Amino acid sequence: MEGRIREATGLSADEFYEALRQRRMTPQVVFNVDVGCNQGCSHCFAAVRGGADVEAVGRSVSRARALGYGTLLFPTEPSVDPRTISLYATAREDYLITNGVEAEPLLERMYAAGVRKLGVSLHGPDPETHGLLNGRAESFERIVATVRKASTRFTVQLKTVVHGLNLPKLQQHFHFAHRIGAAEVQLINLVKIGSAEDLPEHYFLSHDDALQTLREVAVFTDRHRSPRITFSALWGPNFHSRGVYQWLLGKAYAERPQGNRWCPGGRSYFAVVGQEVYACPNHTSDPDFVLGKWDDEDGIQLTRDPWPGGNGDGSVGMCSPASCEYSHLCQGGCRLAALADSGDASGSPAFCLTKLIDELLAEGT
Ligand code: SF4
Ligand code: SF4
Repeated sequence: MEGRIREATGLSADEFYEALRQRRMTPQVVFNVDVGCNQGCSHCFAAVRGGADVEAVGRSVSRARALGYGTLLFPTEPSVDPRTISLYATAREDYLITNGVEAEPLLERMYAAGVRKLGVSLHGPDPETHGLLNGRAESFERIVATVRKASTRFTVQLKTVVHGLNLPKLQQHFHFAHRIGAAEVQLINLVKIGSAEDLPEHYFLSHDDALQTLREVAVFTDRHRSPRITFSALWGPNFHSRGVYQWLLGKAYAERPQGNRWCPGGRSYFAVVGQEVYACPNHTSDPDFVLGKWDDEDGIQLTRDPWPGGNGDGSVGMCSPASCEYSHLCQGGCRLAALADSGDASGSPAFCLTKLIDELLAEGT
């Protein structure tokens, strides 16, 4: 590892880590706009209560931009309160996430607000598979109608939670996504957070399931260019940081790896719900993870550190420096995946994609 750092950056490992520590990143603030949801999925990460003051969020977004922050919007379900759509114009954001069930009549309004990419939740290529996780098989046809119509004007990304029961249909799902016009399928790793904590164990991917997921992706991407298959941050190492990840795998030689190198939650990435600031937009169901307050005058006001004990030499298990040569670079990646599996923000996730890819390469796939 030391040699590769020297080769790629010209710095010693200590100099390189220090340079990364010194970097100042522009804060990115995700405004979770809790207007409620019309699906109530059993795996939802968010604490959905509804009743957000949409106009107040609009003022906070404008202020955040004036303070120089990057902003992102994450409404629970925009179609529940279509006033959220005008926030996209305020935030100058072009990516909107929806469950797609009631979204079709709102597509024109979304386009007019500047939205050009839609993330739509779909968890399988048929109603039964889609409903295995959220019990909402009856929503399938309406979601598909939304995707078909949207794909003529928007870039459509399907957001697909991979779990133990839909994994056998993944290959079909990729082909179905192509037929209905999706440009991308983003695979989301189901973690035991929020409502998903109550799901039976066989829903969560084991090491072997995760390896099988990678095999399915490799089989598809070997032969097909569309849709693009991507992985959400919840899969683990450095998925906020593609440059570092590629560099780790020796596939790219950058002067210095780009990106955050570790979970940015609470460092340069924050979620605001009402007046409360959280470290991660996927972990707003636990009040213990409130880090501070949002202030419309001064912005983010932190009162405590993110992920106490995590992200450092104190990592334990598979991600500890003694167990993984990438530990100081990767620091265990997504802390939520580690917390969900080990109950400890300093712990390790259930599996590591970096190591799974090594296994896959060793198979010669
Ligand atoms: S085992 Fe290593 S590469 Fe994998 S997530 Fe942990 S620290 Fe990162
Ligand atoms: S905990 Fe995971 S999902 Fe949350 S900010 Fe960190 S990497 Fe992203």
